[in-house]
Amino acid sequence: MDNDGRTLAPNQGLQPDTLQGVPIRATKRGEERTPLPETYDVLICGASFAGLAVARELAGSGAEVMVVDRYEIGERQTSACGIPTDWLRATGLMEAERQRFDSLLIRMPHGTKRYRLPWTFSTFDYRELCELLWAGCDARFETAKVDGLSAPANGDGAIAVATDRGTLSAPLVVDALGWRRVLARGDGYQPPDAPLSRGLEVHPDGAGEKFEIWIDRRYVPAGYGWSFPARDEVRIGIGSFDPRFHVRETTELLAADLGRDRVGFQGNWIPHKLRPATEGGVFFVGDSAGHCLPLTAEGIRTALYFGIALGRELRGVVEGRQSREQAAVEYARFHDSHEWKFRWMLRVQRLLPRIPPRLLSPLLRALSAKRVVDWSFGHYMRIAPPIPAAGSAHDQHGADQEQRDADHPLRANRDLVEAEQP
Ligand SMILES: Cc1cc2nc3c(=O)[nH]c(=O)nc-3n(C[C@H](O)[C@H](O)[C@H](O)COP(=O)(O)OP(=O)(O)OC[C@H]3O[C@@H](n4cnc5c(N)ncnc54)[C@H](O)[C@@H]3O)c2cc1C
Repeated sequence: MDNDGRTLAPNQGLQPDTLQGVPIRATKRGEERTPLPETYDVLICGASFAGLAVARELAGSGAEVMVVDRYEIGERQTSACGIPTDWLRATGLMEAERQRFDSLLIRMPHGTKRYRLPWTFSTFDYRELCELLWAGCDARFETAKVDGLSAPANGDGAIAVATDRGTLSAPLVVDALGWRRVLARGDGYQPPDAPLSRGLEVHPDGAGEKFEIWIDRRYVPAGYGWSFPARDEVRIGIGSFDPRFHVRETTELLAADLGRDRVGFQGNWIPHKLRPATEGGVFFVGDSAGHCLPLTAEGIRTALYFGIALGRELRGVVEGRQSREQAAVEYARFHDSHEWKFRWMLRVQRLLPRIPPRLLSPLLRALSAKRVVDWSFGHYMRIAPPIPAAGSAHDQHGADQEQRDADHPLRANRDLVEAEQP
């Protein structure tokens, strides 16, 4: 239901304030940014991978869910949009796929190594993927800039959030706003001193066949470069584990080396360390909880994975099966159970730049045996394995609520992750 008591249809058709119909409206400006109604059952701040995954899990729960973002849904691409294909499949998002790869080419100063992957990787269209996620939601969306927490509302357990369209409040509030973690108490977490990597890419038009990364100090002393083709454009970028290294110049250098235009810049800080899952009653997910994997800077499937897990916990609250506090404990337990895997990835991230370049090629060659590749990529996938989400094709074609509960990542994956701990 919306704030006027009307039941909102699932977001399948045209929605005035969203991207459900093309052409897409630009973000509301000036006098269009009118004050919004104040109270909701669930307030989700951030409408990218993490926020939309949470909202989709709440569809059909009867909760009045408000999603806000400073931009329209899908308006600003936040990544190179590479993800294991199985994740697109499990979440019913295959339509957004642009290109698929069954091998990874690693280019080093002293050689090139091709790894045949045990699973395929896909690039996708950001706007289309966000639209597909949104189509599975029955939430309301508005553009609003979130400024931070406001004073607690009315002492009724609701959490108040200050935005440029007024104060919004709900008993269940999600921060899916990215690394800035806007709804946390300020803890001085700022680059370049915080554990954040730096990423920048260009998006020239053109086609390509190879899914490539560069481990080459000519481009970045600690980190890697990439070229991910996506049917009619190529996403070429540099990620530096060291936030002090400026990547603009070498992003341009890599694009120039590949004979591509240096256009369509897109970049951000990328967290490489987990942060608390909850704080002050707010739930954090995606980059705001540090869910991006160290070493590879893969943060999309983890944003979806933890978003699905959080959405299921919140659904338990709105359906009266648990309290907000119980949901917070369960979600934090799930998040914490993955900490050792993130820690290991961070160790390798720190080790990689210390390996002398001339040893890198023989080392990676030694690790390219099929069984080693299958083993390591299998473990890597199991950090955040594909989970069918609510509203996905898998879900619609057979999984009822009971089955979803049985598939619940908190039941299955947390136990698996804990059991695997060394
Ligand atoms: C150059 C680059 C390339 C990358 N490539 C990949 C890749 O190929 N594969 C991969 O898995 N990961 C990649 N990543 C990492 C990935 O982009 C992130 O981990 C992922 O986007 C996290 O999703 P999220 O939903 O948590 O946050 P985001 O996608 O960052 O979304 C945050 C949302 O919050 C909104 N927002 C922020 N502040 C406010 C505010 N104050 N008020 C209102 N709204 C606000 C933003 O508009 C945005 O919609 C890449 C990162 C970078 C920088």
